This record gives sequence, C-alpha cells and structure tokens, in this order.
Amino acid sequence: KQALLQELKGKSDTTADGKTVHVYANIGSPEDVSAVLENDAGGVGLFRSEFLYLNSRDYPTEEEQFTAYKKVVQTLAPRKVIVRTCDIGADKTVDYMGLEPEANPALGFRAVRICLTNHDFFKTQLRALLRASAFGNLSIMFPMIISVQELQKCKALLEECRKDLEQQGAALGTVEIGTMIETPAAVLCADELAQECDFFSIGTNDLMQYTCALDRQNAKLEPFCDPHHPAVLREIQMTVEAGHRHGCWVGICGEMGADLSLTETFLRMGIDELSVNPKSVLAVRKAVRSCSLSEK
Ligand code: PEP
Ligand code: MG
Repeated sequence: KQALLQELKGKSDTTADGKTVHVYANIGSPEDVSAVLENDAGGVGLFRSEFLYLNSRDYPTEEEQFTAYKKVVQTLAPRKVIVRTCDIGADKTVDYMGLEPEANPALGFRAVRICLTNHDFFKTQLRALLRASAFGNLSIMFPMIISVQELQKCKALLEECRKDLEQQGAALGTVEIGTMIETPAAVLCADELAQECDFFSIGTNDLMQYTCALDRQNAKLEPFCDPHHPAVLREIQMTVEAGHRHGCWVGICGEMGADLSLTETFLRMGIDELSVNPKSVLAVRKAVRSCSLSEK
C-alpha cells in the first residue's frame, strides 16, 4: 500500500474533475522539513513555532528565530510556508515566562492573549518572521483569535514592525495573513474576520474541544468524542462560506483534515487546503484525486 502511495509523488492535488485542493504538511521544527520533502507536500500549512520557546531556557532572540524561520522558508521555496505565531500556554508552558498555574488553562492566558499583553515579546517574533519573508514564500497566522479587534491588534503590531524594518532598510517579502478558526466565537465572527485577512485555517482540535466542551487532554472523555460531530462539521461549512464571501481561502490544519472518510465532505464544502501530518500527505492526495465533485 505504501508502495502504491509512492507513485503519487510529483502528482497534482487535483480532483478527478479538475479542482485543485492543496495538500500541505504540519510541522513543529526545522528538522521536519525533510519529512515535508520526502512526502512531497505542496507546502506547509501549519508551522507550529512553539519549539523555539519550549526548547529554550530563556526567551528566544530575534536572531535565533530569524535563523530558524529562514532555514525552513528558504529550503522549501517556492512552496508556501504558513507560520503560526506563538501558541504557548494551556498545555505548553515554560518556566522563564513566569506563567502562573491556572484552574482552567485551556480557557486561560495563552497564544495571542499572551502576545497582545506583552507586545515586546510578540514583536520579536513578528520582526523575525518579516525578515525571513525575504527568503521564500512565508505567511503568518494568528492562533486562538476570538474577535475582530484581536486580529486588528495583531495586524497593527505587524505593521509597526514592518515600518521599523523598512526604515532600517531590511528586505521584506509579501506576507499573507491568516486567522486560525479554532473557537466557536471565531466561527460566529467569520464574516468580519474574513474582511481583515487573506485566509482561514481551521484548527479542528481546539474547535472540537471548545464547541463540545471536551478537554482534549483528558483520555477519559474519549467515549464522548465524536470525530464527525455535526456541530463541528457545520462550523467548518459556515467558515468556508464566510471566508469565500469575502475572498479568503479556507484550509483545515487540525487532525480532522487527515480523516479520509471526510475528505469528500470537506471538498464538497469548498475547502481549499488540507494541512496534515507529513506521513498522511500522500494518502490525502490519493483521496483528493479520487473525488469527483461534479458527480452527485
Ligand atoms: C488545532 O487546534 O486544531 C491546531 C491545529 O492547533 P494545535 O493542535 O497546535 O492546538
Ligand atoms: Mg489549536
């Protein structure tokens, strides 16, 4: 079976009736780039940047971050690489940040909530990302967004960084901006959010957790988890429709994206991209290629 999948390398991510649906890979460190290439992913739909913070004894510097992003973007050029800004907090904590223990960490001080509280911390990452954008095709997306105001604040800080860097004469590329849709609030505000960004990436792991009130860390809850829960599928449909109304493309980067029993459903909803674990790329490509959307 593995041998048959190998034959799909170099083939396009196109349905039998000609619609292209990008199949990208999720990665969590620069070392994962080899898996992206080995599995012939069209790009990286989610580069989790937490490795920089988790593998460090202190705040990673702008230079350290720049080097890591540049390496990935340059090696994979001209493929798209979507970097998610720091999603520390909840299950992922580090001592040097001095985050206090919380009663409800999943509902707590995490991701953009930390970044929008500590602007210097956030701007270090944004500057590193903008500088790396000169070396390939880099996009930036923001996690755990719950409102348009949050997205606007993230964008304003990014603009500040861009202006500073331009004044310093730095070379910068064009950067697409994306919003992760992983809270029910983001789904319900998707029309407004879509007017402020270029793409949506649906984080179904958290979207499932927050929609169904099911702690994703708690193994005891497994019998209560329905990976095809109609509420989450409806949210995906709503997100695609809202995104497309305003010219945003829409992808899925949570684990549901690799569920082959849902590939056709997602494609019929109009999903433009599926970003999955590198090992699942060829299997998802196969599923995309065997869909025919014009047939009922
Ligand atoms: C998600 O929530 O679905 C997601 C892709 O992000 P993470 O699993 O890193 O929270
Ligand atoms: Mg998430």
